[in-house]
Amino acid sequence: MIYLGIESTAHTFGIGIVDDKLPKEKKIIANVKDSVTTKTGGIIPAKAADHHVEVCDAVLRNALVKANLKLEDVDVIAYSQSPGIGHCLRIGAMFARTIALKYNKPLVGVNHCIAHLEIGRLVTEAKDPVLLYLSGANTQVIAYEGKKYRIFGETLDIGIGNFIDCFARELGLGFPGGPIVEKLARAEIENNPTENKTPHYVELPYCVKGMDVNFGGILTNLKQKIKHMNAHKKEHQTKEHTHCYYTKESLCYSAQETVFAMMVEVAERALAHCDKKELLLGGGVACNKRLQEMCEKMCKARGAKMFVPANEFLIDNAAMIAWLGLLQYKAGDKLKIEDAGIKPYLRTDDIDVAWR
Ligand code: AMP
Ligand code: MG
Repeated sequence: MIYLGIESTAHTFGIGIVDDKLPKEKKIIANVKDSVTTKTGGIIPAKAADHHVEVCDAVLRNALVKANLKLEDVDVIAYSQSPGIGHCLRIGAMFARTIALKYNKPLVGVNHCIAHLEIGRLVTEAKDPVLLYLSGANTQVIAYEGKKYRIFGETLDIGIGNFIDCFARELGLGFPGGPIVEKLARAEIENNPTENKTPHYVELPYCVKGMDVNFGGILTNLKQKIKHMNAHKKEHQTKEHTHCYYTKESLCYSAQETVFAMMVEVAERALAHCDKKELLLGGGVACNKRLQEMCEKMCKARGAKMFVPANEFLIDNAAMIAWLGLLQYKAGDKLKIEDAGIKPYLRTDDIDVAWR
């Protein structure tokens, strides 16, 4: 059977296609997307929705060409139903209903966070992992216990990706900021101009509360430091050169070290608490090589294994929606067209897992 997945929770509109009869490593036959990027702002919900409307036809066409299929050949339509930005989710749900009605196909609504975990189990050897899910809006440590995907720790305010993007915006780096912050942090490690070549760690608040984390205070602190740095730069134009305590590079390095350490700490406690031996990474921020390095070190120290899917399955993608759609459909899940709405605030642990 052929499963078509539609992703539209936030900045990405994607179409993924899975062919169930192919072996595990070949099942994904298309994974096409188009994402919002900007030079100055972040995601503006209404504009992101406009973007999705503009690109949806072309993304679908490209995915079908890639898979060498027609819409008639598709058996099941899955779409990201929760959680996400209402404006964006609505476009995907409408697109799904339109295809389902026109071609008389069954519909499945999928939880985006769980899809990140399930695609990880498909494309890596992970069997029963703790998922460290670090994306733009979501920051959760998730594991399977008692028929549900339970959240063992999460952000109490913004997502870690939003934190990095806001910080990058303050530095004038554009959106999405994650890859640029990673590059500048790397430069602080590799091309450090100080005598002893050690990267300069600027002290920042460290915000772990039990199993949860928050980023708002760290962001405020960084904003103050950026203001200080910019004021200092302005002064330079008139006065003799003196070194500012902070640089873009040292702030990027310090921000990464701090928030990644927080996440590694919580992930490690979840591994210990659940007595699990596998850590799976998911979400766009998990593309970060320094984060991967830190997780690897922690796993090694406690005899656990780390699994990192390829970048195309870490960031938001529709292959994972098609794949979870397949798992749910096979377990008997099907939506009536009138029930195929969106659930922007549904939590990971609200969903009964019938497919495991
Ligand atoms: P997602 O919502 O899962 O698609 O992830 C998007 C988020 O991942 C954005 O906030 C990006 O800034 C962030 N991101 C992407 N690549 C990297 C990277 N190399 N390092 C840190 N964050 C990243
Ligand atoms: Mg995501």
